Amino acid sequence: MLSELVTEVKGVGDKAAEDLASMNIHTVADLLYYFPYRYDVYEIKPLSELIHDDKVTIEGRVIHEPSLTFYGRKRSRLSFTVEVEGIAVKAVMFNRAFAKKQLHAESMVTLTGKWDAHRLQITVSNYKLGPAEEQANINPVYSVKGDFTNIKLKKIIRAALSQYGKEISEILPDTYIKSYKIPGRKDAVYAMHFPADRTALKHARRRFTYEEFLLFQLKMQLLRKLKRESTQGNAHDYDPGKVQDFINGFPFSLTNAQTKSLNQILGDLKSPFRMNRLLQGDVGSGKTAVAAISLYAAITAGKQGALMVPTEILAEQHFQSLTELFGEKATIVLLTGSVKGKKRKEILAAIQNNEADIIVGTHALIQDEVIFNDLGFVIVDEQHRFGVEQRRTLKDKGLNPDVLFMTATPIPRTLAITAFGDMDVSIIDEMPVGRKEIETLWAKENTFERILDFIEKRVAEGEQAYVISPLIEESDKLDIQNAVDLFHQLQEYFPEKVKVGLMHGRLPSAEKEGVMKQFAANEIHVLVSTTVVEVGVNVPNATIMVIYDAERFGLSQLHQLRGRVGRGDKQSYCILIAEPKGEVGKERMRIMTETANGFELSEQDLRLRGPGDFFGKKQSGMPEFKVADMIHDYRALETARNDAQEIIETNILENDKEFYSLRQYLEQELSFLDKLD
Ligand code: ADP
Ligand code: MG
Repeated sequence: MLSELVTEVKGVGDKAAEDLASMNIHTVADLLYYFPYRYDVYEIKPLSELIHDDKVTIEGRVIHEPSLTFYGRKRSRLSFTVEVEGIAVKAVMFNRAFAKKQLHAESMVTLTGKWDAHRLQITVSNYKLGPAEEQANINPVYSVKGDFTNIKLKKIIRAALSQYGKEISEILPDTYIKSYKIPGRKDAVYAMHFPADRTALKHARRRFTYEEFLLFQLKMQLLRKLKRESTQGNAHDYDPGKVQDFINGFPFSLTNAQTKSLNQILGDLKSPFRMNRLLQGDVGSGKTAVAAISLYAAITAGKQGALMVPTEILAEQHFQSLTELFGEKATIVLLTGSVKGKKRKEILAAIQNNEADIIVGTHALIQDEVIFNDLGFVIVDEQHRFGVEQRRTLKDKGLNPDVLFMTATPIPRTLAITAFGDMDVSIIDEMPVGRKEIETLWAKENTFERILDFIEKRVAEGEQAYVISPLIEESDKLDIQNAVDLFHQLQEYFPEKVKVGLMHGRLPSAEKEGVMKQFAANEIHVLVSTTVVEVGVNVPNATIMVIYDAERFGLSQLHQLRGRVGRGDKQSYCILIAEPKGEVGKERMRIMTETANGFELSEQDLRLRGPGDFFGKKQSGMPEFKVADMIHDYRALETARNDAQEIIETNILENDKEFYSLRQYLEQELSFLDKLD
């Protein structure tokens, strides 16, 4: 049985088992599915075409018996001469004393190693007795630990394959294997370890890429289905007529993408299952409008709604815009950490006795002292900053509202499919009409005065600017000091009539609010700020965003900052001050100046940073695939997702014999279902 311990394999003793365990190989199956992490492909080329210092493969006849010298305790050097194309080539091999017995004069050998074209010498890293095979020589390379060598591991895998190979059974349904023309599981395992040629290897990799994606997608989608069906949500019977009236009262009509997302959310509210949805849309795509309408729908169903945001500034801003939007239609309260004393008591009472319809706030919202009367719907803005723990906290309070997560960080399609495979996702991928594209420029620091003159001109035209101060990593204090310095500098530089303001995270919240109000009212023209303005702040009259040290930010964050401008009908500008040292930094600046579309940008960001870094180390939680690569194998990922969807939707797993082994496999894998929240 493949589940037997690896010590059952011939030649694997306790010591080897210990080393294998450190490589996470415990069972025979672990060993058989321990695939090479790369393949070196060597082709025999004429000596005249070999490049100095390259890794090459040559084939020749040994003309002198090897001579062996020992030095140090365990070190040895074996040197011999081989004849290649009638020319004598010197070969040296380190620490392989045992090879002396195999390399007799006249024997044919194939040697792989580093080529020294000046001395006609090869430093051998790998050798094989006999002539090279017809086909290119494909050498699998495994990652090994302890005393293990690749050669030893290959030997054990070969033994395991001959003992257990016939037990490798297919799990994919025949239909898929046929229609994708992929090799069966057993053949593919052989080909991963001992590929006959490149084509065999390619097909084996294609098979496992698809298999990994399909199994992953099946798990995620099954999970999503089970989550839906096992968690009792509430069917919120909202009033469609009232909701439509509310929409009609807006000064604009919704974009198609807004309408589509809204309908998906309303569908969730109405259904008896609990909402588990992510709403994503680029900055300025109009998520707030969609949020407001769905909150309103919840109110018409007689429920309270809450909007949780990551910062106080945002909470205040959302509170204001919702208050304007709703007018008499709802009672909205603001609850943040800095609402204190009598005011706080009043608000808490209003929440408890159902006077408050909508509660806007920071995480203060889910503290113990807050007792909701009947909370039916929660929207969590900027979910990736906020963390996903909130729902659990709510649940611990005995609440089980529908929850909608919103994010303005466009998530690359690839990651959305994998990281949020167990969530429903709505995407607003369309901007309201009439938006002008923001012009993005990349400038050197010595042009700062010209930039300031440009700002002064725009301010004279009645517009406003943000200047994001230099960033010093991991030092909040220095960041603030920088902002303060820059603030004084700009105050001095600009004439009296240009009013400069200062914003940073450590300002008392009354002061923050005051500054934001003045900026919104155009009483402050130039706002110097740390990155606290990053998320969601909305001042449509601001048309210039200057970002210092732009090379220190990731693309997503730069895009977020840029999204603070271009919110009105005037032409806006984003000026990146950056002197990146490395290529990646330069590439980032170039991408920023060329790409306005957040989704496209997120794909680029993913390409530059890799999936693990995209969400930040801690929250990554990205699945690790052995063979598949989420970025390069995107097509296969999509195919697998569609297949998984079909499999789950049609219930074919339960009903079709052909799917029996797949079902069995999933049942085993999904025995963790009790961990569902
Ligand atoms: P987001 O929250 O996605 O960043 P907002 O909801 O703040 O975007 O919307 C940005 C601006 O666009 C707001 O001033 C809002 O009033 C306006 N807006 C939203 N939807 C539309 C629309 N369909 N047509 C025109 N303007 C819109
Ligand atoms: Mg917003």
